[in-house]
Amino acid sequence: MNLQGLHSIQNHPNKYSIRFKNESGKKVVGYFCSYTPEELIFAANALPFRIFGTRGNINLADIHLQAYCCSPVRNALEDALSGNLNFLDGVVFPHSCDSMQRLSDIWRLNVLMHFHIDVVLPVKLNTESAREYMIGVLNQFKHNLEKNLGVVISEDSLRQAISVYNQIRKSIKMIYDMRHANPALLTGSDFYSIVKSSMIMDRNALAGLLREITADLESNKKIQDTIPLKRIVLTGAMCEHPEIYRIIEDGGGVVVWDDLCTGYRYFEGELDSTGDPISSIAERYLTRIVCPAKHTGLSTRAENLIDIVKSKSADGVVFLIQKFCDPHSFDYPYLKNQLDNDGIPNTLIEMEGQAFVGERLKTRFDAFLEML
Ligand code: SF4
Ligand code: SF4
Repeated sequence: MNLQGLHSIQNHPNKYSIRFKNESGKKVVGYFCSYTPEELIFAANALPFRIFGTRGNINLADIHLQAYCCSPVRNALEDALSGNLNFLDGVVFPHSCDSMQRLSDIWRLNVLMHFHIDVVLPVKLNTESAREYMIGVLNQFKHNLEKNLGVVISEDSLRQAISVYNQIRKSIKMIYDMRHANPALLTGSDFYSIVKSSMIMDRNALAGLLREITADLESNKKIQDTIPLKRIVLTGAMCEHPEIYRIIEDGGGVVVWDDLCTGYRYFEGELDSTGDPISSIAERYLTRIVCPAKHTGLSTRAENLIDIVKSKSADGVVFLIQKFCDPHSFDYPYLKNQLDNDGIPNTLIEMEGQAFVGERLKTRFDAFLEML
């Protein structure tokens, strides 16, 4: 497998997982949100598969959803109702935002092909009772997985899962670090394929592949950009549009870091591999930077974003917000205000389906990059 293989996985995730399932005989468990305790799915000898949904037209999902529903939810439901996710053995729904919770209800009643588990993690994460409650929820999730997959998740298998996930997160962090120091090492499109495939492909194979990629990048360190590029940080929920990286690069910019749910927020933080495994998983969720569907303090997200901008020597921030995404839309005015107060240029791009990618988007990015 090489970078070309990762492009193929990110473009055709369902196809990859069906083939993986047929060849390995393993079960595949779908999930949506970075608050899904994936290590437990992996320890149950199943493949955790992040559901991104269709990139095609929406027909069937619209019968069940209001017009004001974000496209990740719409795309996922369309894929499920079309039968494209029938290869999944189960689906996990973390109760994070309202849209995800309603999707769980609709899915339970209308998509009958696989088992269905809700994971109701606490919202406020900076209290002792949140820790206790989180550990209880994780133990319940472990029990539900064992029952539905017909396996026992031993402490050893969970430690092994933690070790594999730590290797993956460490390698991805190295790739982020190398690329922010030297953007010429890897195109945005290659980078996006690594990040997205890491949520889909066999994690054992991924851990090995990432080691090879980081070693290759390390040996190419001398390659340098000749023209100075405008350094951009992306922030928001999910980015399902690799084109954005190319558009920014065509305009003379480069994405040097992100605060995305399908980006660094997903990989951030290694787990303690020595203590109780469930407590280690809980600890990561309690200490990792939150998405706006969770809470650890009134200014945590702004402080984190400003720290990213300063530590990565970024020139500006692009908010990528899905249309009708309540958590991120409510978060935006306060974040923008804090960036403005610190003199950090920023712009908002509202995304909806595939339709928003095109000349208008290019013009928006070009105008922002010129301003920096
Ligand atoms: S932005 Fe937050 S709530 Fe939404 S999918 Fe990502 S982690 Fe989950
Ligand atoms: S966090 Fe926003 S984009 Fe993600 S599922 Fe919820 S409403 Fe949709």
